[in-house]
Amino acid sequence: MKQVYMDYGSASPVDERVMEAMIPFFEKEIGNPSSLHSQGRKARRELENARISVAKLIGAPNPKSIIFTSGATESNNLALRGAALRYKDKGNHIITTSIEHMSVMNTLKDLQRNGFDVTYLPVDKDGLLNPEQVKNAITDKTILISIMYANGEIGTIQPIREIGQIATDAKVMFHVDGTSAIGKIPVDVENEHIDFLTLSSNDLGGPKGTGALYIKQGVRIIPFMLGGGQEFGMRSGSENIPGIVGMGKAAGIAQKEMSEQSARNMKMRDKLIDNILKMEYTYLTGHRIKRLPNNASFRFSFIEGESIILQLNDLGITASTGSACSSKTLEPSHVLIALGLRHEEAHGSLLLTLGRGNTEEDVDHVIESIPKIVARLRELSPLYTRK
Ligand code: PMP
Repeated sequence: MKQVYMDYGSASPVDERVMEAMIPFFEKEIGNPSSLHSQGRKARRELENARISVAKLIGAPNPKSIIFTSGATESNNLALRGAALRYKDKGNHIITTSIEHMSVMNTLKDLQRNGFDVTYLPVDKDGLLNPEQVKNAITDKTILISIMYANGEIGTIQPIREIGQIATDAKVMFHVDGTSAIGKIPVDVENEHIDFLTLSSNDLGGPKGTGALYIKQGVRIIPFMLGGGQEFGMRSGSENIPGIVGMGKAAGIAQKEMSEQSARNMKMRDKLIDNILKMEYTYLTGHRIKRLPNNASFRFSFIEGESIILQLNDLGITASTGSACSSKTLEPSHVLIALGLRHEEAHGSLLLTLGRGNTEEDVDHVIESIPKIVARLRELSPLYTRK
């Protein structure tokens, strides 16, 4: 049976060139970058080269502003907790949106339990935030604004540069969760006035278990991982050299190939969207234009996303209902609810995320399969037959 993987947003295969770069660091090049011997010095060189690659990808002038972590969840925790604790004497107010990833949402809820005041700004029906709302929400107690660059579930890209300008003018720190955007669209921390940027390696085609946090030079935070003082004291613990080398290599590849890869994905994305929307009672979620090049997300009335996923799985197609991170709860996605959808509407979601391995043939197979599955499920749905 033909296998089609369209769940790159949940997990991506490691690029073969990245694998090749990593392998020596599991086998022979096993030095610890803090060691003085030549093995250690080699590991240190590779660590610093990876920092340079990641810094270049996001337009960071100084590689020392890149702190390697275990992934996007840790980077979000480090930025939010670290900045909140560092600046708590200036104020206790944080601004975010109602569509952030749970690693931001739950960290901010924890900060609320510890005396911080958090404003969750609404988004419009396409998931777009109005920068004016950010401006209006700032008070003299505001210390931090945290907004995701793009939402992986619905693909919507936020006006980050405008929000960054507002944060700068108000002298408020600006954290951006760039997980879904990095490597898909150009991101420039200087031009977009970003103080903290969360990155994940796997979303770039690098290995899982590695990520990074950009911290603008001169901005201070209070770290929570204490120990040997690695990563400029911001994240103690012996560095994951194979993972970091892989992330550095993936960042270098993304820098060279992003525009070509994104154009390829966008063509496949648009074909998926144009064809799937031909079905009745079928809607796009997220913004049609301000949208990640690899994201096609839908909702279908009268049926459940989980049933679509299982039927697609039987046809060799791997897709998702939305956020893989919390889909076990069977609660409707907080992102879709924030768009103003009712619970039963939010339950009928399907997320297709494209990547390097996808072909036109894959797209045709999906376009052929989905209408059949949706029609079959609707025939079984009392909501549809009674409509
Ligand atoms: N932020 C965003 C926007 C995400 O989509 C994800 C999930 N890929 C995360 C943070 C958390 O990533 P991880 O589970 O790799 O820590």
